[in-house]
Amino acid sequence: MLYNQILVRFGDLTLKGKNQKFFLHSLYKLVALKMEGLNVEIEYQYDRIFIHLLNENPDLVIERLNLVSGISSYSLVVSCKDDLDIMKEVALELMKEVAKKPTTFKVNTKRANKDFPIHSMEITKYISAYVLSHHNNLIVDVHNPEISLNLELRKGVCYMYNTEIRALGGFPVGVAGKGLLMLSGGIDSPVAGFMAMKQGIEIECVHFESTPLTSIESAQKVVDLVKKLAKYAPDNQIRLHFVPFKELHQALLKYIPESYNITIMRRMMLRISSELAKRENCLCIINGESVGQVASQTLGSMRTINAVTEFPILRPLCTFDKQDIIRISKKMDCYDVSIRPFEDCCTVYVPKSPATAPKIEKAELYESYFDYSTLVKEAVENTATITLSKDSDLDLTLLGLEVREVVKNL
Ligand code: ATP
Ligand code: MG
Repeated sequence: MLYNQILVRFGDLTLKGKNQKFFLHSLYKLVALKMEGLNVEIEYQYDRIFIHLLNENPDLVIERLNLVSGISSYSLVVSCKDDLDIMKEVALELMKEVAKKPTTFKVNTKRANKDFPIHSMEITKYISAYVLSHHNNLIVDVHNPEISLNLELRKGVCYMYNTEIRALGGFPVGVAGKGLLMLSGGIDSPVAGFMAMKQGIEIECVHFESTPLTSIESAQKVVDLVKKLAKYAPDNQIRLHFVPFKELHQALLKYIPESYNITIMRRMMLRISSELAKRENCLCIINGESVGQVASQTLGSMRTINAVTEFPILRPLCTFDKQDIIRISKKMDCYDVSIRPFEDCCTVYVPKSPATAPKIEKAELYESYFDYSTLVKEAVENTATITLSKDSDLDLTLLGLEVREVVKNL
C-alpha cells in the first residue's frame, strides 16, 4: 500500500465565524481521542488534519474516522516532495497500483501554494503525459473518468489521492451543548439520538421502565442501544437514566379513559424528562417521533403532549420516512437490537382506539383524577443512573428481574 496519510476535511466548520476556534479545537480533540491506541501521528493544520499512518492499517483508522461528527470527508493520500521529477514517479506508481485493468483517467491539480513556479494546467499536462506513456492500461477521459488522480500542492509537499470519501458531516459532539434523549427500545429513538449527536449535541439518555410488569430484557435492549450510541461520544461513554415508571403506568391504567392513556403517559414522561433535563443541565429534550407514524405522533397529539414542558423538544426524525430511519439504524448497527421482540411500557398496552386529536383541556381534566405530581416526583427521585461505555459488558438479565433492584446492586 502506497498511501501513507489520510487527509481529513472539515467542510462547514471553517465558516463558523467567532466560534471557529472553539469548533476546530473540539474537532482536533475528538479526532485525537478517537485515534487513541492506534499507531498514527496527527498533524493539525488550520483547515484540515493529516493522519500519518506510520505502520497502521488504514481500515482501522477509517473505521474510527467514521465515528467522528464534524468531519466532512477524507482521502487516503500519498505525499511526496513538491518536485516534478519525484511527483511524476509517485503518480505513476500510484496509478499502477489502482489501475490494473484498462481504465479511463484524468489528472486534476490544485496549486494551493501559489509560489510554485508552474501553473496547475501545465502540471496536469506534464504528469498525465508521463503516466500515460509509462502505463499500458490508461486512456484519458476528462469528462467522465473511472479514476481521478488528484494532486494538491502545498508548501514543500504534493499530496496525491484518487477518491474523496464522505464522512459523517455535522459538528463535533458537544459544541452545541447537551440534550436529554428519550430512548425507548424501538428503532426510531436511537437514530434520533445519533442525528442529534451528529449535529454537535452531547446526549444523556432517559428510559422509562416498568419492570417487572415488562421484562428485564426490554431494559437490556436500551443498555445495548446506549452502547452503540457511545461509539460516537468523545470518551465512548454515555449516561443512562432509568426512570421507574411502573407506579405511574398502573395509575394511568386505573384512572385514565382508554383513548387518552397514551397521551397522558407521554405527558408524564415529558414532565419527568423536563425535571431530569433541568437537573442534568440539558438544554433540550430529543425524541424519535415522526409526524403521522402513530396516533400519539399526529400534530394535534404533539401539541397536547408538548404543552407540559418549556424545554425545546427536538425531533430529528419528524419528516423521515420509516425506510430511511431503518437504513440509518442498520448503518449504526442498532437495528438487530431494536427489533428484539421485548416490549416496553408503551407497547405492552396499546389502546384499541387512541385519540388522534387529544385536547389539552381534556388531558388536564383526566389528570386531575389522581395525584400524579407525587408520582412524578417519586419517579424522578428514584431514577437510577448508570454510565455505559461502548464496550460495557453489563447484562441486566443475569442480575435480576427489576431494573431498580439490579442497578442498586451494581
Ligand atoms: P421508537 O422506535 O423510538 O420507540 P416509536 O415510533 O415506537 O419510536 P412511540 O413508541 O410512540 O414511537 O414513542 C415516541 C418517542 O417517545 C420515542 O421515539 C422515544 O423518544 C419516546 N419513548 C417512547 N417510549 C419510551 C420509553 N419507554 N422510554 C423513553 N422514551 C420513550
Ligand atoms: Mg416505541
